[in-house]
Amino acid sequence: MRNWAGNLEYKAGGMLRPATLAQLQEGVAAASRIKAVGTRHCFNTIADTDGIHVNLDLLAGGPQIDTARAVVRVGGGMSYGELGRYLESHGYALHNLASLPHISVAGAVQTGTHGSGSKLGSLHTAVKGLQLIRADGEVVRLQESDGADFLAAVVGLGALGIITELELAIEPSYAVRQQVYEGLLWEAVLADFEAVTSDGYSVSLFTDYTGPAVSQVWRKAMDSGNGPAPKEFHGAKPAPSALHPLPGMSAENCTPQLDVPGPWLERLPHFRHEFTPSNGNELQSEYLLPRGHAAAALRELRALSPVLAPLLFVSEIRTVAADGFWLSPAFERDSVALHLTWKPMQQEVETVLPLIEERLAPFEPRPHWGKLFAADAATLAPRYPHFENFRQLAASYDPAGKFRNSFLDRVLHGLPADRGDREATAPAVSAAVS
Ligand SMILES: Cc1cc2nc3c(=O)[nH]c(=O)nc-3n(C[C@H](O)[C@H](O)[C@H](O)COP(=O)(O)OP(=O)(O)OC[C@H]3O[C@@H](n4cnc5c(N)ncnc54)[C@H](O)[C@@H]3O)c2cc1C
Repeated sequence: MRNWAGNLEYKAGGMLRPATLAQLQEGVAAASRIKAVGTRHCFNTIADTDGIHVNLDLLAGGPQIDTARAVVRVGGGMSYGELGRYLESHGYALHNLASLPHISVAGAVQTGTHGSGSKLGSLHTAVKGLQLIRADGEVVRLQESDGADFLAAVVGLGALGIITELELAIEPSYAVRQQVYEGLLWEAVLADFEAVTSDGYSVSLFTDYTGPAVSQVWRKAMDSGNGPAPKEFHGAKPAPSALHPLPGMSAENCTPQLDVPGPWLERLPHFRHEFTPSNGNELQSEYLLPRGHAAAALRELRALSPVLAPLLFVSEIRTVAADGFWLSPAFERDSVALHLTWKPMQQEVETVLPLIEERLAPFEPRPHWGKLFAADAATLAPRYPHFENFRQLAASYDPAGKFRNSFLDRVLHGLPADRGDREATAPAVSAAVS
């Protein structure tokens, strides 16, 4: 089985599809290596295992809304797209979504997945409670009031257990208007990054770092008495027709633009739920760093544009509000997220990643856990105040390391990636390029 991008083949020797919680508990307790797999949208081996994979599709009960507590209870394997439709049909919404709705809730929150919005936390900031199966097969329920264990488990990199259920904060449904602007001058972005990126509910900038202007601005605004989108956005002009973030691509797979109001779930993601690509022809990396350093970091990437541009499809610049989850890339930092969508040229991309990370190092970037990056545990540990606490907690939930894999060995425990990890990637690179 391959991941969505097709750049790696998982090594798992089998798939457990439990129909009951008891079957899952037994399977976890008996396994020597086991790992949940969601919708396989990660670009690295975080979801891999040399034991067995667990798919929760048979276990998921329907979502349940608790109006008194303003939460929805969902199975870990449910996708945001399915959940969004359910919530909308009951008059509710989530605070934000990622660029596409096809990803599973548990897989997304485990890696710190986020959308954009200077006041909006990552998707995991909606989590109010969860239930997971620990390595010994025991059921553990955690709520916000549980403190440390909860703050570690939500963005848990799959290292603490198999999440079977989550409770997410909900709010009354709302409408959003999406307008794309073209030609925002770098001068305006760098002069006041905060003013540009907070001018809307959710603002994303798309660029390849060449030229004097950012090619597109995607501005999503609440449709609650704010009126139509402004005729100018910091000097940029509204696009006359719907656009895809990649120049020249058809916008048919994109959510409606042109300032037409619509439900939150059909405007906050860039890509439509009905369009379901089973695999992709791209790779991704992303780095979150303190927003106060946004202009300086963007200057570094612009200086690297001769190296980046030949490998890039496009880069998306987003903002994310600070949170308190231990391994969240936005832990206690209002962040700018510098996302790079690469052409499927993994060897070349992996050559450039250390250079990017070196140039961004003064800003202490934290990579997206589900995307390609070069940093190892020695580099990452000082950037996460609770890194060591997390490792200790993971060891107490999983003393024999059955949820560990070579990715976690490298980025959490400072061990070299094993040979199998590299082999999983190498053949897929040539397949994607040929
Ligand atoms: C086209 C595309 C667009 C993307 N857009 C964004 C974006 O806008 N913003 C962003 O931040 N990221 C984005 N991503 C990255 C993506 O959101 C993350 O990689 C996310 O983890 C994907 O969820 P998944 O279910 O596919 O995870 P998987 O790859 O299946 O798993 C990821 C991790 O979660 C663990 N996991 C999965 N299910 C469970 C469970 N039930 N219990 C415990 N652990 C579990 C796995 O073991 C693994 O460690 C994008 C990826 C793609 C391919």
